[in-house]
Amino acid sequence: KGAGRNRYSFFTPALQEAAQWRAQLTRDLRVALAQDQFRVVYQPIVELATGAIHKAEALLRWQHPTRGLVSPAEFIPIAEACGLIVPLGEWVFQQAADQVQAWCKTLSPQFQISINKSPVQFENPDLQATPWIEQLRARGLSGESIVVEITEGLLLSTSAGVVEQLLTMSDDGIGVSLDDFGTGYSSLAYLQKFDIDFIKIDQSFVRQLVPGSTDLALCQAIIAMAHALGMKVIAEGVETDHQRALLSAAGCDYGQGYLFSRPVAAAEFERVRAQLTTHTAANAVD
Ligand code: C2E
Ligand code: MG
Ligand code: MG
Ligand code: MG
Repeated sequence: KGAGRNRYSFFTPALQEAAQWRAQLTRDLRVALAQDQFRVVYQPIVELATGAIHKAEALLRWQHPTRGLVSPAEFIPIAEACGLIVPLGEWVFQQAADQVQAWCKTLSPQFQISINKSPVQFENPDLQATPWIEQLRARGLSGESIVVEITEGLLLSTSAGVVEQLLTMSDDGIGVSLDDFGTGYSSLAYLQKFDIDFIKIDQSFVRQLVPGSTDLALCQAIIAMAHALGMKVIAEGVETDHQRALLSAAGCDYGQGYLFSRPVAAAEFERVRAQLTTHTAANAVD
Protein backbone atom coordinates (compact mmCIF):
# COMPACT_ATOMS: atom_id res chain seq x y z
CA LYS A 1 0.00 0.00 0.00
CA GLY A 2 2.85 2.29 0.89
CA ALA A 3 4.51 1.68 -2.48
CA GLY A 4 1.22 2.29 -4.25
CA ARG A 5 0.85 5.59 -2.46
CA ASN A 6 4.35 6.58 -3.37
CA ARG A 7 3.71 5.71 -7.01
CA TYR A 8 0.46 7.61 -6.84
CA SER A 9 2.08 10.74 -5.51
CA PHE A 10 4.99 10.31 -7.93
CA PHE A 11 2.86 10.10 -11.08
CA THR A 12 0.09 12.57 -10.32
CA PRO A 13 2.03 15.82 -10.66
CA ALA A 14 3.48 14.67 -13.99
CA LEU A 15 0.07 13.73 -15.36
CA GLN A 16 -1.42 16.93 -14.03
CA GLU A 17 1.35 18.93 -15.61
CA ALA A 18 0.79 17.20 -18.97
CA ALA A 19 -2.94 17.90 -18.78
CA GLN A 20 -2.32 21.55 -17.88
CA TRP A 21 0.19 21.94 -20.68
CA ARG A 22 -2.36 20.50 -23.12
CA ALA A 23 -5.10 22.77 -21.88
CA GLN A 24 -2.82 25.80 -22.13
CA LEU A 25 -1.72 24.88 -25.67
CA THR A 26 -5.37 24.42 -26.67
CA ARG A 27 -6.15 27.95 -25.43
CA ASP A 28 -3.07 29.37 -27.14
CA LEU A 29 -3.86 27.58 -30.41
CA ARG A 30 -7.26 29.23 -30.56
CA VAL A 31 -5.73 32.69 -30.83
CA ALA A 32 -2.61 31.73 -32.78
CA LEU A 33 -4.22 31.81 -36.22
CA ALA A 34 -5.74 35.26 -35.65
CA GLN A 35 -2.41 36.51 -34.26
CA ASP A 36 -0.44 35.30 -37.26
CA GLN A 37 1.83 32.92 -35.32
CA PHE A 38 1.89 30.20 -37.99
CA ARG A 39 4.07 29.93 -41.02
CA VAL A 40 4.59 27.33 -43.72
CA VAL A 41 8.01 25.98 -44.61
CA TYR A 42 8.87 23.95 -47.70
CA GLN A 43 11.12 20.92 -48.11
CA PRO A 44 12.36 19.94 -51.58
CA ILE A 45 11.43 16.55 -53.04
CA VAL A 46 14.28 15.59 -55.35
CA GLU A 47 14.01 13.41 -58.45
CA LEU A 48 16.79 10.91 -57.77
CA ALA A 49 17.68 10.06 -61.37
CA THR A 50 18.19 13.70 -62.46
CA GLY A 51 18.48 15.81 -59.31
CA ALA A 52 15.60 17.94 -60.61
CA ILE A 53 13.32 19.62 -58.06
CA HIS A 54 9.73 20.13 -59.17
CA LYS A 55 8.05 19.26 -55.91
CA ALA A 56 8.03 20.37 -52.29
CA GLU A 57 6.18 19.40 -49.13
CA ALA A 58 4.52 22.18 -47.15
CA LEU A 59 5.05 21.79 -43.39
CA LEU A 60 3.42 23.88 -40.69
CA ARG A 61 5.40 25.78 -38.05
CA TRP A 62 4.06 27.48 -34.92
CA GLN A 63 6.09 30.28 -33.41
CA HIS A 64 4.60 30.51 -29.93
CA PRO A 65 5.02 33.99 -28.37
CA THR A 66 6.63 32.68 -25.15
CA ARG A 67 7.47 29.00 -25.72
CA GLY A 68 9.26 29.50 -29.05
CA LEU A 69 8.91 27.00 -31.85
CA VAL A 70 6.40 24.24 -30.99
CA SER A 71 6.71 21.02 -32.99
CA PRO A 72 3.80 19.90 -35.21
CA ALA A 73 4.12 16.46 -33.57
CA GLU A 74 3.01 18.26 -30.41
CA PHE A 75 0.36 20.71 -31.62
CA ILE A 76 -1.26 18.90 -34.59
CA PRO A 77 -2.86 16.23 -32.34
CA ILE A 78 -4.22 19.02 -30.10
CA ALA A 79 -5.53 20.96 -33.11
CA GLU A 80 -7.21 17.74 -34.27
CA ALA A 81 -8.77 17.10 -30.87
CA CYS A 82 -10.27 20.61 -30.59
CA GLY A 83 -11.31 20.87 -34.25
CA LEU A 84 -8.98 23.76 -34.98
CA ILE A 85 -7.23 21.64 -37.60
CA VAL A 86 -10.09 22.43 -39.99
CA PRO A 87 -9.52 26.22 -40.27
CA LEU A 88 -5.77 25.70 -39.80
CA GLY A 89 -5.62 23.14 -42.61
CA GLU A 90 -7.59 25.51 -44.82
CA TRP A 91 -5.05 28.25 -44.08
CA VAL A 92 -2.14 25.93 -44.96
CA PHE A 93 -3.87 25.05 -48.23
CA GLN A 94 -4.27 28.72 -49.14
CA GLN A 95 -0.62 29.48 -48.36
CA ALA A 96 0.48 26.49 -50.46
CA ALA A 97 -1.86 27.42 -53.32
CA ASP A 98 -0.47 30.99 -53.42
CA GLN A 99 3.07 29.61 -53.32
CA VAL A 100 2.57 27.02 -56.07
CA GLN A 101 0.95 29.71 -58.23
CA ALA A 102 4.15 31.77 -57.89
CA TRP A 103 6.54 28.82 -58.39
CA CYS A 104 4.64 27.56 -61.45
CA LYS A 105 5.64 30.89 -63.04
CA THR A 106 9.17 31.27 -61.70
CA LEU A 107 10.50 27.71 -61.18
CA SER A 108 8.60 25.20 -63.32
CA PRO A 109 5.13 25.10 -64.90
CA GLN A 110 4.76 21.57 -63.47
CA PHE A 111 5.64 22.55 -59.93
CA GLN A 112 3.71 20.58 -57.30
CA ILE A 113 3.28 21.28 -53.59
CA SER A 114 2.08 18.52 -51.29
CA ILE A 115 0.18 19.29 -48.11
CA ASN A 116 -0.69 17.04 -45.20
CA LYS A 117 -4.41 16.56 -44.67
CA SER A 118 -5.64 15.22 -41.35
CA PRO A 119 -8.43 12.60 -41.17
CA VAL A 120 -10.36 15.16 -39.10
CA GLN A 121 -10.48 17.45 -42.15
CA PHE A 122 -12.18 14.65 -44.09
CA GLU A 123 -14.78 14.20 -41.35
CA ASN A 124 -16.38 17.61 -41.84
CA PRO A 125 -16.42 18.35 -45.57
CA ASP A 126 -19.41 20.66 -45.08
CA LEU A 127 -17.30 23.06 -43.01
CA GLN A 128 -15.08 23.76 -45.99
CA ALA A 129 -16.07 27.06 -47.56
CA THR A 130 -14.94 26.59 -51.17
CA PRO A 131 -13.75 23.29 -52.68
CA TRP A 132 -9.99 23.22 -53.18
CA ILE A 133 -10.28 22.60 -56.90
CA GLU A 134 -12.26 25.85 -57.27
CA GLN A 135 -9.69 27.76 -55.22
CA LEU A 136 -6.96 26.39 -57.53
CA ARG A 137 -8.84 27.28 -60.70
CA ALA A 138 -9.41 30.79 -59.38
CA ARG A 139 -5.60 31.09 -59.33
CA GLY A 140 -5.31 29.79 -62.89
CA LEU A 141 -4.05 26.40 -61.66
CA SER A 142 -5.19 22.86 -62.35
CA GLY A 143 -5.63 20.16 -59.69
CA GLU A 144 -2.22 18.73 -60.62
CA SER A 145 -0.40 21.54 -58.82
CA ILE A 146 -1.43 20.16 -55.41
CA VAL A 147 -0.85 16.75 -53.86
CA VAL A 148 -2.66 15.77 -50.68
CA GLU A 149 -0.73 13.57 -48.24
CA ILE A 150 -2.87 11.17 -46.25
CA THR A 151 -1.99 8.33 -43.92
CA GLU A 152 -2.90 4.67 -44.18
CA GLY A 153 -5.46 4.92 -41.38
CA LEU A 154 -7.72 7.06 -43.57
CA LEU A 155 -7.94 4.31 -46.19
CA LEU A 156 -9.37 1.98 -43.55
CA SER A 157 -12.21 4.40 -42.86
CA THR A 158 -15.54 2.88 -43.74
CA SER A 159 -17.19 6.28 -44.09
CA ALA A 160 -18.71 6.72 -47.56
CA GLY A 161 -17.89 10.42 -47.31
CA VAL A 162 -14.15 9.78 -47.05
CA VAL A 163 -14.12 7.43 -50.04
CA GLU A 164 -16.12 9.91 -52.07
CA GLN A 165 -13.83 12.84 -51.18
CA LEU A 166 -10.71 10.91 -52.10
CA LEU A 167 -12.13 9.86 -55.45
CA THR A 168 -13.39 13.39 -56.17
CA MET A 169 -9.90 14.78 -55.51
CA SER A 170 -8.45 12.25 -57.94
CA ASP A 171 -11.08 13.11 -60.57
CA ASP A 172 -10.15 16.79 -60.17
CA GLY A 173 -6.51 15.90 -60.88
CA ILE A 174 -5.36 16.60 -57.33
CA GLY A 175 -2.62 14.12 -56.46
CA VAL A 176 -2.92 11.68 -53.59
CA SER A 177 0.15 10.59 -51.67
CA LEU A 178 0.28 7.91 -49.00
CA ASP A 179 2.46 9.26 -46.18
CA ASP A 180 4.51 7.24 -43.64
CA PHE A 181 3.95 4.08 -45.71
CA GLY A 182 4.75 0.84 -43.90
CA THR A 183 3.79 2.04 -40.42
CA GLY A 184 0.04 1.40 -40.78
CA TYR A 185 -2.18 -1.45 -41.79
CA SER A 186 -3.34 -0.76 -45.32
CA SER A 187 -3.56 -3.69 -47.69
CA LEU A 188 -2.58 -3.78 -51.33
CA ALA A 189 -6.24 -3.86 -52.33
CA TYR A 190 -6.79 -0.42 -50.79
CA LEU A 191 -3.98 1.15 -52.79
CA GLN A 192 -5.77 0.43 -56.06
CA LYS A 193 -9.23 1.26 -54.80
CA PHE A 194 -8.22 4.84 -53.98
CA ASP A 195 -6.14 5.84 -56.99
CA ILE A 196 -2.98 6.69 -55.05
CA ASP A 197 -0.31 8.56 -57.07
CA PHE A 198 2.64 8.50 -54.66
CA ILE A 199 3.82 6.27 -51.84
CA LYS A 200 6.14 7.81 -49.25
CA ILE A 201 8.35 5.22 -47.61
CA ASP A 202 8.48 6.04 -43.90
CA GLN A 203 11.76 7.35 -42.50
CA SER A 204 12.02 4.37 -40.15
CA PHE A 205 12.83 2.13 -43.14
CA VAL A 206 15.38 4.58 -44.55
CA ARG A 207 17.29 5.31 -41.32
CA GLN A 208 19.35 2.10 -41.16
CA LEU A 209 19.50 1.33 -44.85
CA VAL A 210 22.56 -0.82 -45.63
CA PRO A 211 23.22 -3.45 -48.31
CA GLY A 212 21.71 -6.82 -47.38
CA SER A 213 19.43 -5.35 -44.68
CA THR A 214 15.77 -6.24 -44.17
CA ASP A 215 15.00 -2.54 -44.57
CA LEU A 216 16.55 -2.52 -48.03
CA ALA A 217 14.54 -5.63 -48.98
CA LEU A 218 11.39 -3.85 -47.76
CA CYS A 219 12.21 -0.69 -49.74
CA GLN A 220 12.83 -2.77 -52.87
CA ALA A 221 9.52 -4.62 -52.41
CA ILE A 222 7.57 -1.38 -51.86
CA ILE A 223 9.15 0.18 -54.96
CA ALA A 224 8.42 -2.89 -57.13
CA MET A 225 4.82 -3.05 -55.90
CA ALA A 226 4.22 0.67 -56.36
CA HIS A 227 5.64 0.66 -59.87
CA ALA A 228 3.57 -2.40 -60.82
CA LEU A 229 0.48 -0.42 -59.72
CA GLY A 230 1.55 2.70 -61.61
CA MET A 231 2.55 4.73 -58.55
CA LYS A 232 5.72 6.74 -57.90
CA VAL A 233 7.79 6.34 -54.74
CA ILE A 234 9.24 9.03 -52.47
CA ALA A 235 11.70 8.04 -49.73
CA GLU A 236 11.40 10.16 -46.57
CA GLY A 237 14.21 11.03 -44.17
CA VAL A 238 17.13 10.67 -46.59
CA GLU A 239 20.07 11.96 -44.55
CA THR A 240 23.18 10.41 -46.12
CA ASP A 241 24.58 10.05 -49.59
CA HIS A 242 24.84 6.32 -48.91
CA GLN A 243 21.07 6.07 -48.38
CA ARG A 244 20.46 8.15 -51.51
CA ALA A 245 22.66 5.84 -53.60
CA LEU A 246 20.98 2.66 -52.31
CA LEU A 247 17.50 4.08 -52.91
CA SER A 248 18.48 5.32 -56.35
CA ALA A 249 19.89 1.87 -57.26
CA ALA A 250 16.64 0.29 -56.01
CA GLY A 251 14.73 2.44 -58.51
CA CYS A 252 13.18 4.84 -56.01
CA ASP A 253 11.80 7.86 -57.90
CA TYR A 254 12.20 10.69 -55.36
CA GLY A 255 14.03 11.47 -52.15
CA GLN A 256 13.26 13.95 -49.39
CA GLY A 257 15.43 14.63 -46.38
CA TYR A 258 18.14 16.62 -44.62
CA LEU A 259 20.75 15.39 -47.16
CA PHE A 260 19.13 17.74 -49.67
CA SER A 261 17.64 20.34 -47.34
CA ARG A 262 15.68 20.89 -44.17
CA PRO A 263 12.24 22.46 -44.58
CA VAL A 264 12.86 26.18 -45.21
CA ALA A 265 10.96 29.43 -45.81
CA ALA A 266 9.82 30.06 -49.39
CA ALA A 267 12.55 32.59 -50.27
CA GLU A 268 15.26 30.28 -48.96
CA PHE A 269 13.72 27.37 -50.86
CA GLU A 270 14.46 29.13 -54.13
CA ARG A 271 18.13 29.57 -53.14
CA VAL A 272 18.44 25.96 -51.93
CA ARG A 273 16.86 24.66 -55.14
CA ALA A 274 19.19 26.72 -57.33
CA GLN A 275 22.20 25.52 -55.34
CA LEU A 276 21.19 21.84 -55.39
CA THR A 277 20.43 21.99 -59.11
CA THR A 278 23.76 23.65 -60.00
CA HIS A 279 25.53 21.07 -57.86
CA THR A 280 23.83 18.19 -59.72
CA ALA A 281 24.53 19.75 -63.13
CA ALA A 282 28.21 20.14 -62.17
CA ASN A 283 28.38 16.50 -61.05
CA ALA A 284 26.75 15.34 -64.26
CA VAL A 285 29.53 17.07 -66.24
CA ASP A 286 32.32 15.35 -64.25
P1 C2E B 1 5.33 14.10 -42.25
O1 C2E B 1 4.22 14.58 -43.11
O2 C2E B 1 5.72 12.69 -42.38
O3 C2E B 1 6.52 15.09 -42.56
C1 C2E B 1 7.88 14.72 -42.58
C2 C2E B 1 8.57 15.10 -41.29
O4 C2E B 1 9.93 14.61 -41.33
C3 C2E B 1 8.69 16.60 -41.09
O5 C2E B 1 8.63 16.84 -39.69
C4 C2E B 1 10.10 16.90 -41.61
O6 C2E B 1 10.66 18.07 -41.07
C5 C2E B 1 10.84 15.68 -41.13
N1 C2E B 1 12.03 15.37 -41.92
C6 C2E B 1 12.29 15.66 -43.21
N2 C2E B 1 13.48 15.19 -43.59
C7 C2E B 1 14.02 14.57 -42.51
C8 C2E B 1 15.25 13.88 -42.28
O7 C2E B 1 16.12 13.73 -43.15
N3 C2E B 1 15.44 13.37 -41.03
C9 C2E B 1 14.51 13.51 -40.04
N4 C2E B 1 14.78 12.96 -38.85
N5 C2E B 1 13.33 14.15 -40.23
C10 C2E B 1 13.10 14.68 -41.45
P2 C2E B 1 7.74 18.03 -39.08
O8 C2E B 1 7.76 19.22 -39.98
O9 C2E B 1 8.15 18.20 -37.66
O10 C2E B 1 6.26 17.44 -39.12
C11 C2E B 1 5.90 16.32 -38.38
C12 C2E B 1 4.54 15.82 -38.79
O11 C2E B 1 3.52 16.77 -38.45
C13 C2E B 1 4.40 15.60 -40.29
O12 C2E B 1 4.97 14.37 -40.69
C14 C2E B 1 2.89 15.64 -40.43
O13 C2E B 1 2.32 14.40 -40.08
C15 C2E B 1 2.49 16.68 -39.39
N6 C2E B 1 2.28 17.99 -40.07
C16 C2E B 1 3.17 18.95 -40.38
N7 C2E B 1 2.57 19.99 -41.02
C17 C2E B 1 1.26 19.65 -41.11
C18 C2E B 1 0.09 20.31 -41.66
O14 C2E B 1 0.12 21.40 -42.26
N8 C2E B 1 -1.11 19.65 -41.53
C19 C2E B 1 -1.21 18.42 -40.91
N9 C2E B 1 -2.43 17.84 -40.84
N10 C2E B 1 -0.14 17.79 -40.41
C20 C2E B 1 1.07 18.39 -40.50
MG1 MG C 1 3.82 14.39 -45.07
MG1 MG D 1 -4.74 10.66 -59.41
MG1 MG E 1 5.93 11.14 -43.41
